[in-house]
Amino acid sequence: MTTLNETHDAQLRSWVASAHATGTDFPIQNLPLAVFRRRGSTEPLRGGVAIGDQIVDLAELAQARPFSGRAAEALAAGSQGTLNALMALGPAHWSALRLALSRALREGAYEQAVMQVCLVPQAQVEYALPARIGDYTDFYTSIYHATNVGRLFRPDNPLMPNYKWVPIGYHGRASSVVISGQNFARPCGQLKAPDAAAPVLGASRRLDIELELGVFIGQANALGEPVPMAEAEDHVFGICLLNDWSARDIQGWEYQPLGPFLSKNFATTISPWIVTLEALAPYRVAFERPAGDPAPLPYLDSAHNQSAGAFDIQLSVGLQTPRMRAQDARAEATICRTSYRHAYWTVAQMVTHHSVGGCNLQPGDLLGTGTLSGPTPDQAGALLELTTGGKHPIQLPGGEARTFLEDGDAVVLRGWCEKAGHARIGFGECRGQVLPARML
Ligand code: MN
Repeated sequence: MTTLNETHDAQLRSWVASAHATGTDFPIQNLPLAVFRRRGSTEPLRGGVAIGDQIVDLAELAQARPFSGRAAEALAAGSQGTLNALMALGPAHWSALRLALSRALREGAYEQAVMQVCLVPQAQVEYALPARIGDYTDFYTSIYHATNVGRLFRPDNPLMPNYKWVPIGYHGRASSVVISGQNFARPCGQLKAPDAAAPVLGASRRLDIELELGVFIGQANALGEPVPMAEAEDHVFGICLLNDWSARDIQGWEYQPLGPFLSKNFATTISPWIVTLEALAPYRVAFERPAGDPAPLPYLDSAHNQSAGAFDIQLSVGLQTPRMRAQDARAEATICRTSYRHAYWTVAQMVTHHSVGGCNLQPGDLLGTGTLSGPTPDQAGALLELTTGGKHPIQLPGGEARTFLEDGDAVVLRGWCEKAGHARIGFGECRGQVLPARML
């Protein structure tokens, strides 16, 4: 758990002017991390920290040895081509680096001259996956998503009886997690029409999105040693945006009895920037359940989780069709607005439940929250819900409509936090575009 400190002060001013631009995701109170290099170059990948429209190049900065102690150790670890080594160091190191960078980026900082030459414009870079992701687990933490989807298949009994007791998840595929901006082909797989005698191999016609957040694991727990709730957040490095693209027609035929397989293993897109839990501290909210719902079992409960275990992260989904793009490269229609605060299970509960049987989580492992639908229909984080199973198309500006994604469609997830008395911080973008299928 992180308490507020001088790095969260809304009055802080940076000598990087763009950190004060209206609507920027990256003021000095944020300081998220990514892995990057100059676009089109053969430079080594290395860690960076966002400030305004710039990136502090951690490898360049480490050469100047501006920090000491834990901050210096964290800076050296963050200079590598993945952030796994930094993630493994733990919260005391992450916090020391954040404090040192915050002080060095403030107006009047002694370090300004040495920092200035380490800035790279974000407009000139390409991003890579921030970590070597050993394992990817996807949860199902929105009770609204679980209920909406369940209702399509079981109108009288939408929510499974285990839902309010156990954080549902499955082990996903790490190799096809891609970074924002990397496009992917519409997947092919077995499709079976309800009235057909046999399935056929074909391109998915019900390609969907899942609006999720990704949780990057920091320090590991040893195999066989569960992580208690009181320590769970010490194992979390930070949070990114995640789009768990899903082929609903492939899923419907293949998912019983072992769950999704090809319907979700062709691409999962994440945003380049990881916002640390420390940066998110001001936007914590109470973890609340409707009256009459069972309390979590004691191993999934704690006073801190009840008072501040959830995060009010605002989320939106933008859809850009090829026709919109032809008229304006930035045009898109917002098809969902919601908040992470509506989740039924918290970050800490995901970590503790994942490890309670003895499973070891490792630095760079990725947990998906599951589709983060909110309580109202316009807060649904998947087309399956927004169109009631494909029955009611979404109407888009310009007279277009969609039930599921068509070739050329691009989807952009965004996330941000706002609270009176605190800076607005954001997650940047998580973008992906659907390319035509490649048939076998
Ligand atoms: Mn998912």
